Amino acid sequence: MKVFDLHCPLDHVFEGWFGSEADFCNQMEKGLVQCPMCGSQQLRKGLSAPRLNFGAQAPARASTAPVAAGAAPPAHATSAEDRSKQQALQAAWLQASREIAQKSEDVGERFADEALRMHKGEEPQRPIRGQATPRQAMELLQEGVPVMPLALPQGSKETLQ
Ligand SMILES: [Zn+2]
Repeated sequence: MKVFDLHCPLDHVFEGWFGSEADFCNQMEKGLVQCPMCGSQQLRKGLSAPRLNFGAQAPARASTAPVAAGAAPPAHATSAEDRSKQQALQAAWLQASREIAQKSEDVGERFADEALRMHKGEEPQRPIRGQATPRQAMELLQEGVPVMPLALPQGSKETLQ
């Protein structure tokens, strides 16, 4: 799995997940990758980090993490260089996550199956979200299915504390 920090012309930074460098190029060519905040497809790839940052922003209570497919990837503030900028990014990202939650269908633990069926054209493309294990997410990425971590604000579905 490749994790890239992507930068748009307005200096929004977010994290993109791809099965490989080739997947990244392929999805960029098809215009499938865009800034979650301004929709720009003019993305620069920042330094990549070979890491699996799965559900890092959500309480690690279960072996599954919230994920989404067919929706805009969540923003990820990567540096603490400018705190107010980061807060603005986080606010924008929380809003984006809420929009994904509203617009996507919660398929729960069927996420991996549903995402794969959509990818194979067995079901119509639609934004879905649900639960997947890191292993399932890896398998989807290897199939070329765009999957992204969805650190939904827990408050949108359940209470945090
Ligand atoms: Zn942007």
